[in-house]
Amino acid sequence: MAMNEKGEKKKRKVKVIKIDVNKCNGCRACEVICSAFHSQTKYGTNNPSRSRIQVYFDPLKNIYVPVYASEYTPAECAGRNKYIMDGKEYIECAFCGASCPSRDLFKEPDSKLPLKCDMCEEEPPLQEPMCVQWCLNKALTYEEREEEIEEETELKELETGLESLIDRYGRQKLMETLARMAQKE
Ligand code: SF4
Ligand code: SF4
Repeated sequence: MAMNEKGEKKKRKVKVIKIDVNKCNGCRACEVICSAFHSQTKYGTNNPSRSRIQVYFDPLKNIYVPVYASEYTPAECAGRNKYIMDGKEYIECAFCGASCPSRDLFKEPDSKLPLKCDMCEEEPPLQEPMCVQWCLNKALTYEEREEEIEEETELKELETGLESLIDRYGRQKLMETLARMAQKE
């Protein structure tokens, strides 16, 4: 378990948006505000296909299911999942939040770059993500909780950070900088 200098277990903030499909009426306000908030000049343009949340509609059951954009995956699924709810079979990929080569969902419409929900990270931070603020039916609710960090998770994050620095500056330059910093200590 990772500890801080005082010997206490380290914690990190986990942000969660809970979805209550029974309260969603398909107004798509969440899609509209997400795409507007993430447009290049903030709120300047509004193309809901840029939204990091998409509301899936099933006309037979008359229900709406908001789905959030998650990680990009370069691989297409080896198998496809089908969901059966109340006896109704839902199409393959219906509730998947991944941006992948199989479909156009969760891709920037011009560049085709993948989109991912970033919880509306801003400086100064928002009190709640925009889609939650705009969901007047309270189908989306925001929660924050603290989780203790495992050492393995911390090391993984460190490795990811180092890999991105290597990509940017090259391994040699990174090693030289670390060696220089170590000498100063
Ligand atoms: S804003 Fe809320 S009610 Fe409207 S579509 Fe989005 S999740 Fe559903
Ligand atoms: S949390 Fe922010 S980025 Fe994520 S879907 Fe909602 S509005 Fe879009």
